[in-house]
Amino acid sequence: MTTSPEICRRRNKEHSMFERHHTQETKDKMSKAHKEQIPWNKGLKGYNSGKKNPMFGMCGEKHWNFGKHWDKKVRQKISDSLKWLVGENNPRFGKHLSKETKEKIGIANSGKLLGERNPMWRGGISHLPYPFVFNKELKRLIRRRDGNQCRNPKCEGIFSFLTPHHINYNKNDCRPLNLITLCNVCNSKANYHREEWKRLYHKIVSRLSTKHFTRMNYLWGSKWNQAL
Ligand SMILES: [Zn+2]
Repeated sequence: MTTSPEICRRRNKEHSMFERHHTQETKDKMSKAHKEQIPWNKGLKGYNSGKKNPMFGMCGEKHWNFGKHWDKKVRQKISDSLKWLVGENNPRFGKHLSKETKEKIGIANSGKLLGERNPMWRGGISHLPYPFVFNKELKRLIRRRDGNQCRNPKCEGIFSFLTPHHINYNKNDCRPLNLITLCNVCNSKANYHREEWKRLYHKIVSRLSTKHFTRMNYLWGSKWNQAL
C-alpha cells in the first residue's frame, strides 16, 4: 500500500507520527540498522508455499473458523476501520484505468492462468481436435454474418481479435445457430456462468437474418451430417 502523506492523514489522524517527520539523523540511524538486518525470508525459496503451508487443504469444515462468526462488536470495529476507504475517501475514487494500462495489465497477466494453473482447468478438453467442418471457411462465414464484430452486447471492445464461440459449448456442434462471433475477451468470459451466456447468445443468434443461414446450410449441410 502506498503511504503518501495524504493517505496517512486520512487513515490515522491520531498516529504518533501524524504530520511529523523524522530528522535526518534518525533517518540515517534507521537506514544503517536496516542494512545490517537479514531479511527473515532470505534463502527460503518456496517457504510455506503449497503443501508446506500450515493452511494447505484447510478449507471448508477443516478450517478453524468454519461455522464461527465474529460477534457484533468485532464486526463493527472492522467496519469502522475500513470506512475511510469507502466512496470519495478512497484514493481511487472516480479514477479509471486507461485503455493503455488495461492492455498492459492484460499482457503482463497473460499466460499466468494458462493450462493447469487455471482454476477452470478441465483436464485439457480444450485441446481436443475440432471437427473438420470447423475450418477457415466456416469461421469466415460466421464472422461475416455477425458483421465482423463481437456480438456480446456488453463487450468493452478492449481487444479486436475475433473468434467464433460455440454457444452450447459442444465443439462438435458447428451449426451456424450454435456459433457466434466474440472477441477474445468476451470468449474467455463465456467460460464462467455458462448457462447465462448460453441463453443470451442463443437469443441473439436466433434473431439474426436467416439469409446467411440458408447459404451456410447449403455450403456445409452435407458435411455437418457427417460430423454430428
Ligand atoms: Zn467482446
